Amino acid sequence: MSTASIFCIANQKGGVGKTTTAINLAAALAAMRKQVLLIDLDPQGNATMGSGVDKNKAEQNLYQVLIGDTAITDAKVRSESGGYDVLPANRELSGAEIDLIQMDDREQQLKQAISQVADDYDFILIDCPPTLSLLTLNGLASAHGVIIPMQCEYFALEGLSDLVNTIKRVHRNINPDLQLIGLLRVMFDTRVTLQQQVSAQIETHFGDRVFKTIVPRNVRLAEAPSHGMPGIIYDKNSRGAKAYIEFGEELIKRVKREALRQQARPPV
Ligand code: ATP
Ligand code: MG
Repeated sequence: MSTASIFCIANQKGGVGKTTTAINLAAALAAMRKQVLLIDLDPQGNATMGSGVDKNKAEQNLYQVLIGDTAITDAKVRSESGGYDVLPANRELSGAEIDLIQMDDREQQLKQAISQVADDYDFILIDCPPTLSLLTLNGLASAHGVIIPMQCEYFALEGLSDLVNTIKRVHRNINPDLQLIGLLRVMFDTRVTLQQQVSAQIETHFGDRVFKTIVPRNVRLAEAPSHGMPGIIYDKNSRGAKAYIEFGEELIKRVKREALRQQARPPV
């Protein structure tokens, strides 16, 4: 029996590589023989489709789980290509905000559902939507840590402060376990001087909360979802695949290290 480490992959900026990170990290951890559940918290359903699961055929999905109509065990689907379980999402999930608002523990619904399956997994990854909405709040309330994928672009740091403040607020008010696990630099192009400069700024600002692994811009990672496969399975020798496998290893080391010095640290 294992009790899962639960991580949100979050950034309220759109198109920064959250879903690509969630899918490939899930597959990388599964390849290390870890039991993994990937929760698709985005009505776009990209993590579902990219795992090879048809979002439109998922009649039992995260929406029914959040409103308390079904349990995760009954809604989860296997990603055959990735070797992990998926809790699928589709457009139905966009209605959940309205249903949740009427509930008492509106930001705790996902946490309650997860508590029933936490012992079945080593890792539960939550792919957040590009918003700081009630859905994302449910993700943050459920998690031990947040992984923030980011592109090293001019406005990247500016946009981060809203997310960092949200993490601090959630830590203070709803979930004292929540920590910023780390920032992951993605879609990186070493030839672009500006990216190197922003990357250095991120290191100065966030210190050891920045992952050492850097995920390069790599077309194989972008092609993989249309084949319903994680990039690390689609072309395991590509530079992108190698980076995500390395990231999985780095994350496992970091989780062990954090466990040793838990509680003593502010969330960010
Ligand atoms: P959203 O905010 O809409 O949920 P997201 O943050 O989940 O977006 P992704 O969907 O993972 O971002 O990525 C956005 C686009 O960039 C996708 O087309 C994806 O295939 C591509 N992409 C992501 N990472 C890489 C990479 N390292 N190299 C090349 N393309 C990438
Ligand atoms: Mg996404």
